[in-house]
Amino acid sequence: MEEKINWGEMNRWELDKRSDIVDTAILPIGSLEQHGPHLPLDTDTFYAREMVERAVKGLDSVKPPVLPAISYGVSEHHMGFPGTVTLEPETLKHVIVDIGRSAIRHGFHKLLIFNGHGGNEAVIKTAARELKNETGMDIFIDSYKVMDPEREDLVETENDVHAGEFETSLVLASREELVDERNIPEKEMEFPDTKLDFEHEPEFSHTWNTHDLTRTGVLGDANKADKEKGEKLWESGIKRLRERIETVIEID
Ligand SMILES: [Zn+2]
Repeated sequence: MEEKINWGEMNRWELDKRSDIVDTAILPIGSLEQHGPHLPLDTDTFYAREMVERAVKGLDSVKPPVLPAISYGVSEHHMGFPGTVTLEPETLKHVIVDIGRSAIRHGFHKLLIFNGHGGNEAVIKTAARELKNETGMDIFIDSYKVMDPEREDLVETENDVHAGEFETSLVLASREELVDERNIPEKEMEFPDTKLDFEHEPEFSHTWNTHDLTRTGVLGDANKADKEKGEKLWESGIKRLRERIETVIEID
């Protein structure tokens, strides 16, 4: 039988045995939020979980257990569109800290958080600091940025940050049947906008809501998406994440 990787599929005995040979657990975090008129609401959760699972499955070394993904994130900025469900930052922080506290009590002293949604970044850092202070647990944070080098090469659209060329390519390469291609909107906005330019580090930051910037809910250009780009992004992301997981496992 293939070695189990999902925390939730193991029985308590299997989980206990795993903690004897590996002290790292992995927690994917996503969101449930609008992704334009053409992509599924669970886009971020799906690829966070899927990327982690595929990376862990391919490990030669011992496989750290993958905790069930947190399927909701901090998505207030997408609430202007149907389907978005958001957590208060405090709520998400508490959930992450509680999961970490539980994992360490069962022998997992290291936690690798893999984040699929930009809006969760600040909260994850806060939760990690709190867990570290309280329990001494070592927290590592990785994200969809694991694909950045290839994203820079493959994605033509500037400021393609949400439900555009990048994310639509990822979904085409993993769940093509869920992409409503008839509903892919025309590219709507040009950057730099007076408020935002995601390509460059701003001199000072500006808090934004998606519905103030776009009627379609897309930031970028989904028309430039294709399956082949998506496959390359998946492949390189999984490979790099696998190397990082190996590094985390090795750290004392
Ligand atoms: Zn997304």
